[in-house]
Amino acid sequence: MRLVTILGASGSIGKNAIEFLRLHRKDFTLCNVAFKADWQTALQLCAEFNCRAVSFADPIAAETFAIHCRQADVSVLSGPEGAVELASEPVDVVLAAISGSSGLAPVLAAVRAGNRVALANKEALVCGGTALLDLARSNGSTIIPVDSEHSAMYQCLLAGNRHEVGSLLLTASGGPFRTSTIGEMRVATREQAMNHPNWSMGVKNTIDSATLANKGLELIEAAYFFQCDESDIDVVINPSSILHSAVCFRDGSMVAQLGRPDMRVAIGYGLSWPDRLTTGVETLSLSDLRRLDFEDVDLEKFRCLSLARSALRIAGDGPMLFNAANEVAVAAFMSGRLGLLDIAGLIEECLEQGAGRFTGSLDETPALAAEAMHFCRSEFEAMADLV
Ligand code: MG
Repeated sequence: MRLVTILGASGSIGKNAIEFLRLHRKDFTLCNVAFKADWQTALQLCAEFNCRAVSFADPIAAETFAIHCRQADVSVLSGPEGAVELASEPVDVVLAAISGSSGLAPVLAAVRAGNRVALANKEALVCGGTALLDLARSNGSTIIPVDSEHSAMYQCLLAGNRHEVGSLLLTASGGPFRTSTIGEMRVATREQAMNHPNWSMGVKNTIDSATLANKGLELIEAAYFFQCDESDIDVVINPSSILHSAVCFRDGSMVAQLGRPDMRVAIGYGLSWPDRLTTGVETLSLSDLRRLDFEDVDLEKFRCLSLARSALRIAGDGPMLFNAANEVAVAAFMSGRLGLLDIAGLIEECLEQGAGRFTGSLDETPALAAEAMHFCRSEFEAMADLV
């Protein structure tokens, strides 16, 4: 029986993870769950899984939960410290699925506690970089990527030794604007940007997939996680999202992982590693599929991808700034204050103006990430005032 903590239970990754646990009740126990505010779901889950502890980012939700909870033995935690405390509980695997920079501190806590981490939060690696991996190594914590591309690469890398790897191939779907002109993208609406052809994800990830900022973040994550230069990672578009990523070995072999575009596979692998359990996803039928198409990325339309490479070359706080500027820009786009293509403009500006200001130790990372976010917000306001 493996003990599980889920951080971020009400998001799409968290919900799918809970479905996976329901499929494998004999193998897993859900002990600890962190929510943003969804106390009703928390009540259901605690009754269903007999959880030991729950935490809520929102203190009012924590109080409401405590009033309604009929199980006397459930600990109720709240605020940012709540998720950190929950992450530190010794378990077999912590699914880190709190999105955004608030997911950072709980990941550090889980790693520090020596827990295995199934990592779905991008910010932890993007902001923590190699220092996070060093921390994991020194605390005996293993990190398994849950992002479908990185999960694919992780699986492909098992086919050879690290020194035999020539390059990594990161695939992108191209999102809803793959075939659009740059003019169409300039005036794209929220509804158009939210209409992802293959994946169903949260708002932030969906917009990031429309600009390919998502692929930029994934490129940064892959460079850190698999310890290679940005120039060793190629990005190619596979519109059907069937080929989830690949590793090119020095002997001329390319090992790829293919499957239906369904996050349940990567989530299941993250929770069950090194084993593979059923996920409810059917194996692909190649005779039904018949073909796989590939295209180069149009870097004029998808400038965020080139900017991610620049951020990696800046090193230090480049990736953290890329992430912060993008998060600010996506919020501004969703509130109608920024055009889709201006997201790249804000990232570029923030990288130019901010690089070098937000460097420090891993422990300082959550605070530095918050400062970088604040900086990017003021850069945006200054830019918006000019218009
Ligand atoms: Mg992905």
